[in-house]
Amino acid sequence: MARPLFKAYQQNQVYLFPPSLEDLIADNHPVRVVSDVIDRIDIDIIIKKYKGGGTTSYHPRMLLKLLVYSYLNNVYSSRKIEASAKENIYFMWLSGMSQPDHHTINRFRSERLRNILKEVFAQIVLLLVESGHVSLQEIYTDGTKIESVANRYSFVWGKAINSSRDRIRQQLKELWSYTQKVAADEKGDDTPPDFDKIDSKEVKATIEKIDAALKNTEVSKGVKQKLNYARKHWPAKLKKYKEQEKVLKGRNSYSKTDPGATFMRMKEDHMKNGQLKPGYNAQISTHNQFVVNYSLHSNPTDTKTLIPHLEQHKKLYKTLPNVQVADAGYGSEENYLYLQKQGVEAFIKPADFDRKQKRNYQPNPFITGNLEYNALRDEYQCPAGNPMKRTGTIKRKENGLLKTYATYKASGCKNCPLREACHKQKGNRIINVNHKGWKLRNQAHDRLKSEQGVIYRKKRAADVEPVFANIKHNKNFKRFLLKGMDKTEIEWGLLCIAHNLKKIAA
Ligand code: SF4
Repeated sequence: MARPLFKAYQQNQVYLFPPSLEDLIADNHPVRVVSDVIDRIDIDIIIKKYKGGGTTSYHPRMLLKLLVYSYLNNVYSSRKIEASAKENIYFMWLSGMSQPDHHTINRFRSERLRNILKEVFAQIVLLLVESGHVSLQEIYTDGTKIESVANRYSFVWGKAINSSRDRIRQQLKELWSYTQKVAADEKGDDTPPDFDKIDSKEVKATIEKIDAALKNTEVSKGVKQKLNYARKHWPAKLKKYKEQEKVLKGRNSYSKTDPGATFMRMKEDHMKNGQLKPGYNAQISTHNQFVVNYSLHSNPTDTKTLIPHLEQHKKLYKTLPNVQVADAGYGSEENYLYLQKQGVEAFIKPADFDRKQKRNYQPNPFITGNLEYNALRDEYQCPAGNPMKRTGTIKRKENGLLKTYATYKASGCKNCPLREACHKQKGNRIINVNHKGWKLRNQAHDRLKSEQGVIYRKKRAADVEPVFANIKHNKNFKRFLLKGMDKTEIEWGLLCIAHNLKKIAA
């Protein structure tokens, strides 16, 4: 049998000329792309975050490179970044052999990059524009929900606060009327409290008034217990509800362990129990699969995120794109109107667009959208062929926008053979039509059916959606590590920068 041969192995070999890290890193390695790109950006905005004086700090450019390269390599924990800076030659090369600890890395990520990372991101995007990788004139926008690190059972519900407050209000009313009845002769302040505006102070004062009125009156054990409970708990509870409402800021829910997170339904429900989880609605705009704008929202509905997302685009690049492409989740009157006013051509599907494209689509002749409208006479024709005359106008504020609805009324519904299928109203059928909204939706529909519209629709799915697939599946990023809107937005920004740089490197 031939003797096995091994390559020379001398662990303690001393080198006369030790190899430098520079020699060990391939010319086309992604770490060089990270280093080159971050060397080209202006980091004055980060430097301004340092107070000055005291001991020396690690250079922000080095820390930014380390963070971006970590996110590019699916390393998100500050402890793992610290370890990599000691063990991994790419990190060592990038850090110039500096070894910041995890506190330093975390402080830099959470505090120094707070509110400024977007400007750093925009500089990188502008470099991509310069090199011809992307254009800011045509963007594809979409969103995804990403879970917060918060406990899944740490919810505070806005509805629960309202019903608890209503319960206290009702019980306080009962106690007040009982007191007025049984201690009617007692002298004292019997001005009723404003039950609609009860708060901690008001409840406390009312209970004191009730106590004073019932001082010399024999009351049942039940009433005494109720009063004791109210005195002890209600003012504190109402104070807590007020504080919770301040955190809610109009949301339906938040998490006690991450107040920035809102409970929302996740597409990837790893618990598979359909429960709402605390998370954020992460939005991106892309071009050629590069992220050109990112934002994070507590509102789970995509419709309401488009305007703030585009306002940020305008703030970063001082201009808006010429073309905005998005799916049906963004098709609202507010968004169409905003884009029209800003001179942006919107290729955004109205909510029923996909349904209408199906081969077996049968328009329902009874729904308002399918009734025939005679603009000249300003009247509709009902499914039985009878005119529906204009009867008035209604103005309603919806999502901050004042909308005008024209009202039309049918006649002869009582004896109509189509009555059952047509409507469930008591008398003759009344419809409210927002003509402006219909017009905007029809225009969007026509744009999407045009030759250019078909191209954009096809390109949308291939442009923005692979970015989410890359971040969630290839980069295995399914849950934020940090808490709070500011910090999670930094994480989202670092992921977007890492995604862009990885694409350049590829
Ligand atoms: S029920 Fe009234 S609105 Fe409907 S088809 Fe008959 S007449 Fe027209």
